[in-house]
Amino acid sequence: MNTSPPQEGKMFIFTAPSGAGKTTIVHYLLDRYDFLDFSISATTRPPRAHEVDGVDYYFMDAATFKDKADKGEFVEWEEVYENQFYGTLYSELERIWSIGKHVVFDIDVRGATNLKKQFGVRCMSVFIRPPSQEILFQRLKDRNTETQTSLEKRLAKAKQELTYENNFDIVLVNDLLEVTLIEAEHIVETFVYGMPIIET
Ligand code: 5GP
Repeated sequence: MNTSPPQEGKMFIFTAPSGAGKTTIVHYLLDRYDFLDFSISATTRPPRAHEVDGVDYYFMDAATFKDKADKGEFVEWEEVYENQFYGTLYSELERIWSIGKHVVFDIDVRGATNLKKQFGVRCMSVFIRPPSQEILFQRLKDRNTETQTSLEKRLAKAKQELTYENNFDIVLVNDLLEVTLIEAEHIVETFVYGMPIIET
């Protein structure tokens, strides 16, 4: 959808336990709205088969990541899984705001809590919750991108991440995806324009 250019650069944080469907929602919104751009995080985890450096993540080794952290180049960073670091670079915010777009984050619950504290009303934070813990666990297993050890780590973490929902502006329950996507559109349009857009 092409609408008028945005005013001051804003941020949308989408956060959730792993497997709640946030990546699907984020990709949908990025395809739909030209005025949004994805904040590409830096990470030390290895790329998955379909992932591209500089598109999905900036993949880097631990020494490079640490060097950037020491130099204060990250807005926030977390050790999301043991020995797997993820972080948002200040240069990403500048890149996106300088082209007049709003930033979209797909980050973990602790990073999201940290960003929301730093950016306050400039930032809309959305916690995506699965309808139940059982459904979340099933989705994670079905995804089949993890080894057994990594899956177990993710299940344990997901359980703990579900306790963070009160830290955010809005809780979006991802039960029926088509419904969740419409709700997500309304959240974006309301934050950018003050109301949902009625298409004629
Ligand atoms: P994945 O390895 O599945 O791509 O991501 C694992 C988790 O790290 C997800 O919850 C994802 O949202 C989160 N993540 C990705 N980028 C960042 C980031 O820059 N900062 C933080 N704190 N978490 C991130």
